[in-house]
Amino acid sequence: MAHLSRRHFLKMGAGLSALGLMGFPLLSLGAAAKVVVIGGGSGGATAARYLKRYDPSLDVTLIERNETYCTCYMSNEVLSGDRTLEQISFGYEGLKKAGINVVIDEVTKVDPTAKKITTAKGEFSYDKLIVSPGTDLKWDAIEGYTEETATEIPHAWKAGEQTKILRAQLEAMNDGGVVVITAPANPFRCPPGPYERASLIAQYLKEKKTKSKLIILDAKPNFAKQDLFMQGWEKLYGYKTDNSLISWKGLEDQANVTKVDVKTRTVTTDFGDTVKADVLNIIPAQKAGKLAFDIGLTGDSGWCPVDFKTFESAKHKDIYVIGDACIAGAMPKSGYSANSQGKTAAAAVVASLRSIELPETSHINTCYSLVGKNYGISVAGIYKVGKGEDGKDSIVAIKDSGGVSAKEADEATRAAEAAYAHGWYKNITTEMFG
Ligand code: FAD
Repeated sequence: MAHLSRRHFLKMGAGLSALGLMGFPLLSLGAAAKVVVIGGGSGGATAARYLKRYDPSLDVTLIERNETYCTCYMSNEVLSGDRTLEQISFGYEGLKKAGINVVIDEVTKVDPTAKKITTAKGEFSYDKLIVSPGTDLKWDAIEGYTEETATEIPHAWKAGEQTKILRAQLEAMNDGGVVVITAPANPFRCPPGPYERASLIAQYLKEKKTKSKLIILDAKPNFAKQDLFMQGWEKLYGYKTDNSLISWKGLEDQANVTKVDVKTRTVTTDFGDTVKADVLNIIPAQKAGKLAFDIGLTGDSGWCPVDFKTFESAKHKDIYVIGDACIAGAMPKSGYSANSQGKTAAAAVVASLRSIELPETSHINTCYSLVGKNYGISVAGIYKVGKGEDGKDSIVAIKDSGGVSAKEADEATRAAEAAYAHGWYKNITTEMFG
């Protein structure tokens, strides 16, 4: 985080410690209030743990459909062969040890009026509900690309089985093959993610399949940390030379993919150009997770409007929406954002149960990206509730806070950022899962 000054850290720390000063654990509510969290990912697991931390007397239940959570973060290292899927998989024992009632089940319905949750196997009631259902893919965004065909043409935008499929295809590809990644328009989960993926697949090709190439077809004219990525590609993968391993085509190159022929792994752009791949990774456009739609939490954009201070839904009282599914102003859809929002929503729930005013909140996000071995870059931001460009309430970046890695940096700095990325991963997964 080359550009985070000490002053900014202190400012950020002030915001977070304000929550700590509420002294939640010292007070007792009497009859335990029931708080349910749906979704045991970045937002939900964090929220559940912080609810218990802020008030151990709360009756906290986490409902998650899968026994194991695979983090999307570091899943690109599984694709490059630097990590195994097991190393990015976590169970919920740590949450159980923290006194959280963990239920592995699929939520099928929520009745916000009766405050009742129906799952495949049972029913739950709640006083307060936090939902962090993540994103779903827009299956109608690219003609020919369906949920069924994703076993042949993986998106790998939800880590786990999909990551395995893509890795297996890369390993099976002949040397000299072409990997094509299609990247969606904003907003979507993890803005730098497709480019980190391209970088780490390029690293694998450079090591194991030297005659192969990788093409990114992008629905956007530009992308997160573009200059830094491209600088890294120049250094590591011959970008801008005739023999470049990576090429990137954006919207201005008419690279918006609208159609796929699954059998031949050929994509067509909206200008009729076709590109044939040996391994094709389609990352489609996204929307809030299905559950958010089912509960009626989404707005016209396909994402969930919330109160920017508390993350309480603008649609239903006593339901809080965090993570990728919510509209959080300038905050990117990232695991770190979801984690930060999880803490705030937990504090807001406890404050509301105690009829205490929630102090001013602030948020932090750092997105590290690995461009190659020992080569990391980052973007960091600190956020608070404020007025957006349209003059309306929003979550805005604090002026002059954060920033991106310096463009002029030596090898040791890039290596240090790669080490920070791995350290960040250890910290956030320990915080989520214990
Ligand atoms: P999730 O973490 O997806 O959790 C949602 C959970 O809800 C899931 O476990 C799901 O099973 C559960 N669920 C949904 N519906 C139901 C239901 N009906 N019943 C029961 N359970 C349900 N972020 C970073 O900060 N740093 C990174 O370096 C980074 N790298 C990334 C790399 C890639 C390749 C990708 C794809 C993403 C990356 N991200 C990164 C983004 C990050 O993974 C997401 O932003 C984050 O996981 C969002 O958290 P969430 O809680 O909203 O959703």
